[in-house]
Amino acid sequence: MTDIISSMPHRIFKIAVVAIVYYFAARLGLLMELGNTNASPVWPPSGIAFSTLVLFGIDLWPGIMLGAFIVNVVVFHLNSTMSLPVIVLSSAGICIGNTLEAVFGYYLIKKFNCDHILGQTRDFALFFVVALVICLVSSIIGPLMLCLTKIIHWYEYFPVWFTWWTGDVSGIVIVAPALFAWWRPKRKKWNLQTIIVVVLLFVVLGIYLQAVFGNWLPLWPNKTKIFLIFFIITLCVFSMSQRQLSIVSIVVSSFSIISTIHLTGPFIGASMNDSLLSLQVFLCVISITMMFLSTTLNERREKEDELKEANLTLELKVTERTLTLQKQQEELKAANRQLVEKTRELEYVNKESRSFAHAVSHDLREPLRTIASYLQLIEERYKNKLDSDANIFIDFAVDGAKRMNVLIDDMLTYSRIEHSQSPFSDVDLNDVLEIVKNNLHTSIQESNARIIVDSSLPVIIADHSQMVQLLQNIIDNGLKYKNAETPEIHIKVAKLEDFWQFSITDNGIGIAKDYYERIFVIFQRLHTREQYEGTGIGLAICKRIIEKHGGKIWVESIEGKGSTFYFTIKDS
Ligand code: ADP
Repeated sequence: MTDIISSMPHRIFKIAVVAIVYYFAARLGLLMELGNTNASPVWPPSGIAFSTLVLFGIDLWPGIMLGAFIVNVVVFHLNSTMSLPVIVLSSAGICIGNTLEAVFGYYLIKKFNCDHILGQTRDFALFFVVALVICLVSSIIGPLMLCLTKIIHWYEYFPVWFTWWTGDVSGIVIVAPALFAWWRPKRKKWNLQTIIVVVLLFVVLGIYLQAVFGNWLPLWPNKTKIFLIFFIITLCVFSMSQRQLSIVSIVVSSFSIISTIHLTGPFIGASMNDSLLSLQVFLCVISITMMFLSTTLNERREKEDELKEANLTLELKVTERTLTLQKQQEELKAANRQLVEKTRELEYVNKESRSFAHAVSHDLREPLRTIASYLQLIEERYKNKLDSDANIFIDFAVDGAKRMNVLIDDMLTYSRIEHSQSPFSDVDLNDVLEIVKNNLHTSIQESNARIIVDSSLPVIIADHSQMVQLLQNIIDNGLKYKNAETPEIHIKVAKLEDFWQFSITDNGIGIAKDYYERIFVIFQRLHTREQYEGTGIGLAICKRIIEKHGGKIWVESIEGKGSTFYFTIKDS
């Protein structure tokens, strides 16, 4: 509410300005009156009223009404002997018509969403149609008021209506685009070349208009001379801005109106009506053609600019992306280099530690053998000569030495695989299995185990002793980690693409899913020594062997039911 009150003076000021501008535009329009017909070929106030509402808002309609009312009262008062009530009544009717015309125009423009009258061809075409339609409002109401107040006779209604309508249409199509052009933001900056071209075109236009309306070159009839204007305005359209074109339009209109008022020029016809009509058609055609062409051209230029800008943005984005990609590539290369270096370092450390493990386990063997032999000697000589505690201690010591021996053996096997240089050769896995069964003969017999092979095993290219080690470790585990049932070990083989896939299934205690990876790591055991004997190296050895043969090893299991160890070996 306070906002409305505080903006009131501002609005009243604007309304007053509109009323004043309308008043003077109407007086100017009356100056263009042809003879004493009271009809102007162009009625600028209709263009001003329409543009004001479209550009500055519908709120300003009272300004139009006020301006139209005052100008009608003043003109009627000056030009006739009518009584004041008649003057007021007819002026009120006419001013309502003038205001409705502009308001209707505003609503149609908004309804059809054609605010870009000089920016889009569609909007300009619609603007022209709107102008033709809305001018019917004022031209129907105005003469009606004149008839009702008996200022004109009813039989004069249609001629007056037609003149009124054509005058208003000309007013809108000539004045409104000019105002819109000055209200649109400037597109291009001036440069010397455009200034020269524009000045030259204005000079040519001036000379041409003088030739037509000042009747230069009298031998060349004016009626045909006038057609040349299309050539000149086409040049203007391609070289001038819309603001400059609006000046061209005003210059051409002024020349043609003034000369027609003075009864010269190409538009003088048999009657005043003829002259008026050809002048109006000429002015409308010139203004519409110029502005329509210029709008189409502008639209295309704007689209081109948008396209160029989009292209530029795209190029920028591509460059940006390329740069980012290059940077990422560099970073990747650097990371790769680091990775290679780290791998090399790791390989070196690995090799060193394996050599160290090999050396240590190898060197430990000798003193361990000494310890074991002397322990055995002590056991033999002093077993029953010492007290019972000493016997237990000796047993522990012998057991410890034995376990250490197994551990060192396993470690040596592990490091031997690493250092093995022996070339691969044809290995018949059926023979390998026979050796394994032989090696595990005792455990197989003791547990009554069954080892089932689905089909004959293949001959592969491999390291023979490592294959024995691999099968033995897995089958041995199958026998060792058994549950109440009699152990049963199932060996299967399948040929997949370019490798063999083996599976060894037992019906033992099984392995929890969480430990599927862990059991292949050296020294990782899932049970204590009291539960199951072992060193935790067996599967780590299997993994190394398989890796050396370019394959993979993994396990799948159901706890309490058994496990299946899978491994692949290349068939080459
Ligand atoms: P270990 O010398 O302890 O047998 P392995 O490396 O051969 O060492 O096995 C690692 C661990 O994996 C074992 O301690 C055992 O817990 C588990 N394991 C290996 N094979 C089997 C199997 N067939 N069934 C159940 N558990 C197994």
